[in-house]
Amino acid sequence: MARKKKTGKGSGITGPKSAKWLKVSEKYEARCMGQQAPIVLDRGRGAMLWDVDGRQYIDWTSGVLVTNVGHCHPKLVAAIQEQAPRLMNVYDFPTPPRVELARRLVKLLPANLDKAFLLTTGSETTEAAIRLAKRYTGRNEIISFWGGFHGRTYAAMSAGGQASGKKGFGTMMPGLVFCPYPYAYRNPFGGSGGDVGRQCLEWLDKVVGATSSGDVAALIIEPYQGAAGFVFPPSGFLTGVQGWCKANDVLLILDEVQSSYGRTGKMFALEHEGLRPDMVCVGKGIGSGMTTAALVSEERIFSCLGPGEMSSTHGGNPLCTAASLAVLDIFEEENLVANSARVGKYMLGRFRKMQKQSKHLGEARGMGLVMGLEFVKDKRTREPAGTLSVRSM
Ligand code: PMP
Repeated sequence: MARKKKTGKGSGITGPKSAKWLKVSEKYEARCMGQQAPIVLDRGRGAMLWDVDGRQYIDWTSGVLVTNVGHCHPKLVAAIQEQAPRLMNVYDFPTPPRVELARRLVKLLPANLDKAFLLTTGSETTEAAIRLAKRYTGRNEIISFWGGFHGRTYAAMSAGGQASGKKGFGTMMPGLVFCPYPYAYRNPFGGSGGDVGRQCLEWLDKVVGATSSGDVAALIIEPYQGAAGFVFPPSGFLTGVQGWCKANDVLLILDEVQSSYGRTGKMFALEHEGLRPDMVCVGKGIGSGMTTAALVSEERIFSCLGPGEMSSTHGGNPLCTAASLAVLDIFEEENLVANSARVGKYMLGRFRKMQKQSKHLGEARGMGLVMGLEFVKDKRTREPAGTLSVRSM
């Protein structure tokens, strides 16, 4: 939501204390950040948030798909409190929480993924994955998809399939090949739906055949596209992409920064089709509010890097990794993956009912607790109704 120009005394949803803070923000904070709504948040618990005026909200964004165990879960808070006085950061030294988190992540993922590299943000993991793919294969090109989002660092931004994120930032990383993603409601080949998955697989082959210099290292893809508007590929598409990668000796990087940790009703979205990618990027929910992220891949691939060739000052620090261990415990103890599938099914059913009754809800789609709602001016033309929707990425 656009920042209101006049935030003086507080009006509408902006309370007086929020208004004061917004004035200070306007004066001292860079404008490059987004702002979802003209309120200033103070505390959270579970799915609820409170602003500095004590007004209560349901957090439908879960902190932008991050707080998968809910805001400030007591067990997560306790783990942070226990670790903070012990050790918070060391550089390039293993610590018990870092090592244990790597072990548990590897055990949760398909057997080929046998090594984890702990980092801090999702962008760091996609950036590292792209560089690792280039080093391992000795090749240069990366295939990615229209509408995709992989972060805001240089290679991650370059591989994103949304021009709006790149405007005025100069030359993007060379060697990118972009292919259409199967967006059924707005089929890139025209019309609606159809066999958009098959069409996109055919075009993947055609686009690479027509534009690649034959030097492809990897293909990076999200199991569903979040920033594009929560677009879910038809079942079988990702298996098709994986098959294409194998047949063409291209590494498959699955960007699960957003889709993992129960978001789609499975711990990792790859479980829906039994995928075995060469690399998986994990972020957001892994720390449920603490900055943990991980690139999980194979020993044969990581071994192309020598010691110290990739690392990060805060990557895998003991405070964040201790928190992430508590997150995994909470997932197990509270059965959160099954809960996501169950509550998500109920929610989608309700949204679909609303969609039938509404003039402007063109489509309701979802998997687990991630939902995409298409707001349109007219259901027949499907013209997007931008002013009716707020996007949270
Ligand atoms: N990949 C995906 C699929 C994402 O949704 C995001 C964040 N929205 C990122 C990468 C980047 O993560 P971060 O903001 O933690 O760098």
